[in-house]
Amino acid sequence: MGSRVAGLTAIVTGAAQGIGRRIAEELGTEGANVVVADIDESSAADTVEAFESAGITATAVQCDVSSMDDAERLVERTVEEYGSLDILVNNAGISRGERFQDITPEEWQQVIDVNLTGVYNCSVQAAPVMAESGDGRIVNISSIAGQNISYEGPANYTASKWGVIGLTKHMAWDLAEYGIRVNALCPGGTLTPLIEDLTTEEERSETREKIPLGRWADPEDHADATLFLVSDRSSYITGTTLTVDGGLTLGVRHEV
Ligand code: NAD
Repeated sequence: MGSRVAGLTAIVTGAAQGIGRRIAEELGTEGANVVVADIDESSAADTVEAFESAGITATAVQCDVSSMDDAERLVERTVEEYGSLDILVNNAGISRGERFQDITPEEWQQVIDVNLTGVYNCSVQAAPVMAESGDGRIVNISSIAGQNISYEGPANYTASKWGVIGLTKHMAWDLAEYGIRVNALCPGGTLTPLIEDLTTEEERSETREKIPLGRWADPEDHADATLFLVSDRSSYITGTTLTVDGGLTLGVRHEV
């Protein structure tokens, strides 16, 4: 896709590891300045060090997306450092709790605060800056759990990811007149620390057998899709959800 994001400035939340890290790396490799925003300060700093060694222009900002003050500071730091903000990837997400009947009120709130309110906080801070330039590209990382249910995570996770899709559509509606496009990406099961914490090797192997394309997603699959959604190649696309799941939402593979 060449230089379609070169010279632009991107914030990726939860970019210290996993899917967010790979998305940030992809945008940086394509020439964007990337802000690695993460609650884990030292891990974010390590990620930026690795990016800089690979020639990527990057900055680490410690940020808890569930805090509006942190989101405000994140956008201010970005504009101070790079003079603009063109791309926001709301990727930070967590899973807490188990079966619905065992989810504690604290676990319920924590997941909604990070996965859903975090998207609102960062977007509402970013939108005025993007509106000023008349061009903004926001991608919210939902999940196939936001189209059905989560099989690895609990009900609060599912609810938060449905919420992200609803919020994406309404943001796209309200922000279109300012030149800001907003889309959601729905990853299927992806081998990252989040999934490794939630599953055993045996469960991962069983799931692999059921995925129509015969493999778990790699963070790279989501980085490629995100690059499309933030580049000019998708300039007429807003308010949509792009599912990247190896066909899993079609159904599970089985012997006939
Ligand atoms: P991960 O746990 O590997 O990484 C998440 C990152 O977010 C970490 O670096 C963590 O420190 C950071 N983070 C956590 N809470 C934060 C907060 N309050 N503020 C800022 N940063 C915070 O997770 P992952 O698997 O890479 O998932 C990334 C996104 O993709 C999440 O939104 C997740 O729900 C979604 N997703 C993942 C999968 C999967 O199978 N891995 C599938 C569908 C959707």
